[in-house]
Amino acid sequence: MNEPQDTPEYISISYLNAYAYCPRRFYYEFTLGEMVVNEHVLEGQQLHERVDQAGYSTVGDKLQLRRVYVCAPTLGLVGYCDLVEVEGEAGDLPTMARAGLLYPVEYKKGKMGQWVNDHTQLCAQALALEEALGVPVGSIGLGYLFYFGSARRDEVLIDEGLRQRTLALIAEARQVAVQNAPPLPITNRRKCRDCSLEPICLPREVLALRSGLRAAD
Ligand code: SF4
Repeated sequence: MNEPQDTPEYISISYLNAYAYCPRRFYYEFTLGEMVVNEHVLEGQQLHERVDQAGYSTVGDKLQLRRVYVCAPTLGLVGYCDLVEVEGEAGDLPTMARAGLLYPVEYKKGKMGQWVNDHTQLCAQALALEEALGVPVGSIGLGYLFYFGSARRDEVLIDEGLRQRTLALIAEARQVAVQNAPPLPITNRRKCRDCSLEPICLPREVLALRSGLRAAD
């Protein structure tokens, strides 16, 4: 399928997280370059400081690679993995990935939420790693989300369902990125309450205005 010329070649993996949370948020951040740093964003940035320092270390028999840059031209994804963990030292990275011994770990502020955006981001990292390492699709079958708030890791299966949902979101995000106007606000108040962009998005006001205009039709 031919795509418009100005459809972005790459979507940043972290912006894909924003899209999965709310397409309007993605549009503000990715297309319009808006960023609101409130106390929650700042806290997240501070918590991330250690994992944002590139390097590697060994913990037991695991090799940990921090802040790993990944570029996957076929998928149109680019970005960073907070951590790539390799179990054992029996081979190079593609060999370890093929053996199911390499996986991404993403660090998040707060506690395990019920939204799927973090799963989407982790899956996108796995997909991009598979392409970048030149290993078969499906080689990376799991990843982990570490939540600072609960200080624990949760295993996430990178199964076929999550892969397909993530691929669909990548395609959607690339289309939404070139719209002339942002998508409408979502109607999930809890998400909006936790969203740093709420003061400039004005979701309730926009939706009220829209429903008023409809009533006047
Ligand atoms: S305030 Fe709500 S509708 Fe607006 S960008 Fe944030 S999550 Fe989306």
